[in-house]
Amino acid sequence: MTSSARPLVNRRLAEFGTTIFAEMSALALRTGSINLGQGFPDTDGPEEVREAAVRALRDGRGNQYPPGPGVPELRTAIAAHQERRYGLSYDPDTEVLVTAGATEAIAAALLALLETGDEVVALEPYYDSYAACIAMAGGTRVPVTLRPHEGAFRLDLDELRAAVTDRTRLLLINTPHNPTGTVLTRAELTAIAELAVERDLLVVTDEVYEHLVFDEAEHVPLATLPGMRERTVSIGSAGKTFSFTGWKVGWVTAAPGLVAAVRSAKQFLTYVASGPFQYAVAEALALPDSYFTAFRDDMLTKRDLLATGLAEAGFGVFRPAGTYFVTTDIRPLGEQDGFAFCRALPERAGVVAIPNAVFYDHREAGAPFVRFAFCKRTGVLEEATRRLKTLGA
Ligand SMILES: *Cc1c(COP(=O)(O)O)cnc(C)c1O
Repeated sequence: MTSSARPLVNRRLAEFGTTIFAEMSALALRTGSINLGQGFPDTDGPEEVREAAVRALRDGRGNQYPPGPGVPELRTAIAAHQERRYGLSYDPDTEVLVTAGATEAIAAALLALLETGDEVVALEPYYDSYAACIAMAGGTRVPVTLRPHEGAFRLDLDELRAAVTDRTRLLLINTPHNPTGTVLTRAELTAIAELAVERDLLVVTDEVYEHLVFDEAEHVPLATLPGMRERTVSIGSAGKTFSFTGWKVGWVTAAPGLVAAVRSAKQFLTYVASGPFQYAVAEALALPDSYFTAFRDDMLTKRDLLATGLAEAGFGVFRPAGTYFVTTDIRPLGEQDGFAFCRALPERAGVVAIPNAVFYDHREAGAPFVRFAFCKRTGVLEEATRRLKTLGA
């Protein structure tokens, strides 16, 4: 028997409990609600990419442990993608690492690069694995809060500068940003880059929504800015870009020393993953521009459908410049508390959403905001908005 005085979960993890997505997805199932909580598409990615995975399986490619850094075909395709899209050149052998989704890339980067007590400055609200991974790595998170300003959540650069101390080891940046849909501008990213260079900081940048950028917004990889290539760990994911979130294929591109550091942690997390899928993603990354454009245009249509429907239902809407999420303000509906609102929403309207407060250390700053995912079939989004319009009635 274990001592009853001592909790089973260690104190670094104790504060995190079960992720909100488990609770809300279970609630969706139990109430038969439309689940706009968790961000996964309800249709699979391109048929030819699925077929490429089947071929790899049948041909016996990747059914046994693939090489630790990832199969050469995929590393080459990742490097070619970075070159084609952004003019960034990476050596597939020393500057690319395949991971079990972006999730493992984030975990391995933080575990490898942090010493106990190092501070990590991250944009709040943050993706839910960041806080837990910083904690597991023994780091201390220092949030810089994105605040609503003229219809979008914006970064205050003075606040960012003030958050950096002598103990800061790295900046953890996410653009396009989940959950707010903010895409950092070139000017903001340039200021971040200047700060990183001036204070000699490492930067981990989560760019899994790099292909989901709308209207006038532009995705600028931090690694393209002066002084950044050598200090930046860039993270991408096939799950988000090709709508195969179950395949768990992600990657890191960075200078050789950084990739080697991340690999030193990664090798003891999963060692390797997703063998046959790696070959399929290599083919996916080589798809013509028309795939990426059509994917974005399709999501843009869905964004407009959901954002407009939510506005008509009485929500305050932050129309996202990127990602596949809309953050809303529930105060125009006479509500204050996103947690209570989301727990009641399945009964009231048959829809599940996520309270943004779970992505905040300053819970009160996130209290009135609620996130809806629009990576769903048009009919599903139409039905969801029809249901939500009953809320005001
Ligand atoms: C989905 C998501 C991830 C995780 O990506 P996987 O490849 O599924 O592990 C990481 N960061 C952000 C911001 C995400 O939205």
